Amino acid sequence: MYDVLIAGGGPAGLTAAIYARRAGLSVLVLEASVCGGQIVNSPQVDNYPALPNVPGWQFASQLQSQAESLGARIASAAVERAEKDKGGFTVYTSSGQEHCRAFIIANGAAPRRLDCPGAEQYFGHGVSACATCDGAFYKGKDTVVVGGGNTAFEDAAYLAALCSSVTLINRRAQFRADSRAVEELKTFSNVSIMTPYVPVEVLGDGQRVTAFKIMNTETREEKILSVSGVFAAIGAAPDNARFSNLVELDPSGYIVSGEDCLTSTPGVFAAGDTRTKKLRQLVTAASDGAMAANQAAAYIRSAV
Ligand code: NAP
Repeated sequence: MYDVLIAGGGPAGLTAAIYARRAGLSVLVLEASVCGGQIVNSPQVDNYPALPNVPGWQFASQLQSQAESLGARIASAAVERAEKDKGGFTVYTSSGQEHCRAFIIANGAAPRRLDCPGAEQYFGHGVSACATCDGAFYKGKDTVVVGGGNTAFEDAAYLAALCSSVTLINRRAQFRADSRAVEELKTFSNVSIMTPYVPVEVLGDGQRVTAFKIMNTETREEKILSVSGVFAAIGAAPDNARFSNLVELDPSGYIVSGEDCLTSTPGVFAAGDTRTKKLRQLVTAASDGAMAANQAAAYIRSAV
């Protein structure tokens, strides 16, 4: 029986592990993929206080080492569901069962996939949701990035250095990205920005992507861009259906929770992108991790 089991080894989960270990609690972190979460795919983190210009993978790796050096156990397994039991919670995983007194859900959110015709057929064959993972396959080729947030602008800048051309399309003329990122992208001579355009269809030869059909939402005019790669950067969505028996979810699937990281079930805490919140950033994920661990420690003390 662990004092605290943390589902997810991203910035929220690993920060929770650091704080829980410093509070003297035994900690198991379960991560289905690689530790670090979405930040691993960020070429450069620019907005974490006192750590400018750090590559995402380095940030993740340092965070993991810090948690491990404090004695957190980090294991590779997917958390499939959890339920309340007599002494706390039983957590069912891809490799068995674990028991804990307090349960912190810090499983983040997964990149959204394009939902136009052809997008699933060509996923992995020209359609990608990760420019830093797959960009190298498109060296010297023409590509499109879909989205108007910081990820889209970061991805487009990353691809611009590799690809022959990059077209960023966004469904609105306004961008969610920081104006600095927008201005920076405009300095690339091989980048075009097209708004307001939505995806209509990913076209291909049966093997790979050859073109992308888009439509102007104001004029309804359609265009076909000849491209080899289509990169979706349209945000992320939570994956919490498996916890719907345990905690309240909002209509979008986020765990209902405030800044205190408490959920509808005492002993279960939600940290990072997985919970209802206004600002999903590295720094707010880390903040949640600290809060959730602190609340878990108080919960365990009160239950003794
Ligand atoms: P985001 O900010 O939610 O932006 C998603 C973009 O995709 C928006 O432009 C949205 O349009 C568009 N979109 C959503 N669904 C779509 C669909 N079905 N079809 C077409 N377009 C669609 O997501 P993000 O860029 O991944 O960023 C997530 C969070 O991480 C943000 O808080 C961001 O600031 C942060 N982040 C920070 C950095 C950095 O600071 N270095 C880097 C990356 C991400 P609408 O605006 O119309 O909804």
